[in-house]
Amino acid sequence: MHDLILRAADDLIRSKYAIALTGAGISTESGIPDFRGPSGIWTKDPEAEKRAYQSYEKFRRNPKAYWEERLTAPALLGDLRKVIPNPGHHALAELERIGILKWVITQNVDNLHQRGGSQKVLDYHGNAFKLRCIACESRYDPDVFDLERLRIEDQLPPRCKKCGGVIKSDVVHFNEPIPPDIAEQSLEEATRCDLMLICGTSAVVFPFANLPRVAKRRQLENGEGIILIEINAEPTPLTEQKISNYFIRGKTGQILPQIVEEVNRKRSPK
Ligand SMILES: [Zn+2]
Repeated sequence: MHDLILRAADDLIRSKYAIALTGAGISTESGIPDFRGPSGIWTKDPEAEKRAYQSYEKFRRNPKAYWEERLTAPALLGDLRKVIPNPGHHALAELERIGILKWVITQNVDNLHQRGGSQKVLDYHGNAFKLRCIACESRYDPDVFDLERLRIEDQLPPRCKKCGGVIKSDVVHFNEPIPPDIAEQSLEEATRCDLMLICGTSAVVFPFANLPRVAKRRQLENGEGIILIEINAEPTPLTEQKISNYFIRGKTGQILPQIVEEVNRKRSPK
């Protein structure tokens, strides 16, 4: 195990353009429930899963009803303002601060990377703390709209201040396409990176799951020196299909800080 941590530290130091992909595994360590684990949200409440599958369709059909339900129903993930980033989030922020990590591309919607200090984050599935215009993709802080007042005055859904388009949650619902700006830039980063740190995700949900595969294809076809490092509690399809070059087993909140410590130790003058 320790050998792999040293190896990851060396690879990161040698890399010129490292990026990280993250998934539920890094958030569960902050106490956010996952969806499909043994005590996952869908596992415990299959009806909630059915409703979630219908949200996007509901929004498309009747954005006003979607908003009315949103403003009265309790949030699925509980109050995300109460959870705090864990050492895994802080470690990735530190890797960015020292100039090694260029982007974090996350499937999580909880904003914990940003709160942990990361500046360059692509919220692949949206961000629960933002709203988005479906016409021009402008993102808004929810406080920009007086949602409660719009509801009382029968003015829902909120409208984009720039183009008048309909506003929805920035969170990407089932069957909703990934916002094109995020999808495009994520693909660009996967096409550009020379190291991909894959943390707490089995990368089985498409199109996110394409990102490591795009990097792997470049490695195989062009012989480019791209390294894919996986950190997860359990092996994943990426491990089994030999998409990752090596797999470090453990909690991201424990492994990532050790890697960063090694990076800093190796880089500091003796
Ligand atoms: Zn707009």
